[in-house]
Amino acid sequence: MKTYRIAAIPGDGIGAEVISAGTEVLKAVAKRLDQFELRIDEFDWGGEYYKIHGRMMPEDGREQIRNHDAILFGSAGYPDIPDHITLWGLRLAICQPFDQYANVRPTRVLPGITSPLRNVNDGELDWVIVRENSEGEYAGVGGRVHQGSPLEVATDVAMFTRSGVERIMRFAFKLAQSRPRRLLTVVTKSNAQRHAMVMWDEIANEIAQEFPDVTWDKMLVDAMTTRMVMKPASIDTVVATNLHADILSDLAAAFSGSLGIAPTANLNPERKFPSMFEPIHGSAFDIMGKGIANPIGTFWSGVLLLEHLGEQQAAGRLMDAIERVTADPRYHTPDLGGSARTDEVTAAVIEEIRGANV
Ligand code: ATP
Repeated sequence: MKTYRIAAIPGDGIGAEVISAGTEVLKAVAKRLDQFELRIDEFDWGGEYYKIHGRMMPEDGREQIRNHDAILFGSAGYPDIPDHITLWGLRLAICQPFDQYANVRPTRVLPGITSPLRNVNDGELDWVIVRENSEGEYAGVGGRVHQGSPLEVATDVAMFTRSGVERIMRFAFKLAQSRPRRLLTVVTKSNAQRHAMVMWDEIANEIAQEFPDVTWDKMLVDAMTTRMVMKPASIDTVVATNLHADILSDLAAAFSGSLGIAPTANLNPERKFPSMFEPIHGSAFDIMGKGIANPIGTFWSGVLLLEHLGEQQAAGRLMDAIERVTADPRYHTPDLGGSARTDEVTAAVIEEIRGANV
């Protein structure tokens, strides 16, 4: 029987609670199907590790997880450690060298959940946002000089390479092609940003020729926010830069009912390095240790992980179990207006997995 090695990195805050729930659920689905095994290795990297060792992960950390089949990640963020240290020291220290250039964020309103967006009925909001995850505005290029003096200068340079844009565009067209509506929206800001964003538009035109069966359109990012609110059903697959998609996907997550629901995949599509799966939310210290964190975002990330491993049947079973549980308001955590606890939601999903007809 095939054994997959999964690296679990809970990180900080509610990361520990949701990742332990997530690994339990993944093990349950593997056991129920009995077609593959999961070996889950846990790594205690993050804020606590930083307090002891002065770094978020060991120097050879990436080597330790280099040969795993996938990574399940909780969150990076610690109250008294600056955000840029926690982010660049752990999450980005994995994403960037592992060239996880495609960040994929599905959004749907799951059964039983009320979207804050009016008139979004069943299936009317079914999007996948593809975020360029390796360059652009978060390339890390820039600097500060004359700090503290009136002459201080700070720059963040958005870097776009032709090869970087081509590969994310090709990935997005391919993904759109695999979905029933075959519809892609390319988001830029090519009216105001007249160099790199114009290159995005040109490359979109070029790559589109390879996908004659995909219908596509272009939107400016500001107009896209309006369209997401006013005409959600007109959207299917979306591709945008690192910064633009970061913002659009948080808005999308809010439409799905809670930040606690939305999942993310950081993919290295060529599979040269392991890909990483994580809930979109952060460490949420305000609810840490209370046992009320919504684990659905982590479970849904587990679905994306199983799909990436090629275990489609297991992924389908887990998604079905999640949807049956969200449909029942008794299993809504406080962020969804309910009073369920993390372990009750986890137990309910495991129960659904066990009961499923395989
Ligand atoms: P970070 O700085 O790591 O991004 P944060 O606390 O600023 O963390 P998030 O963790 O993304 O930001 O969440 C913002 C708020 O949303 C939290 O304070 C919490 O109340 C709520 N929240 C986030 N995730 C969950 C979850 N899984 N379950 C319940 N509530 C959540």
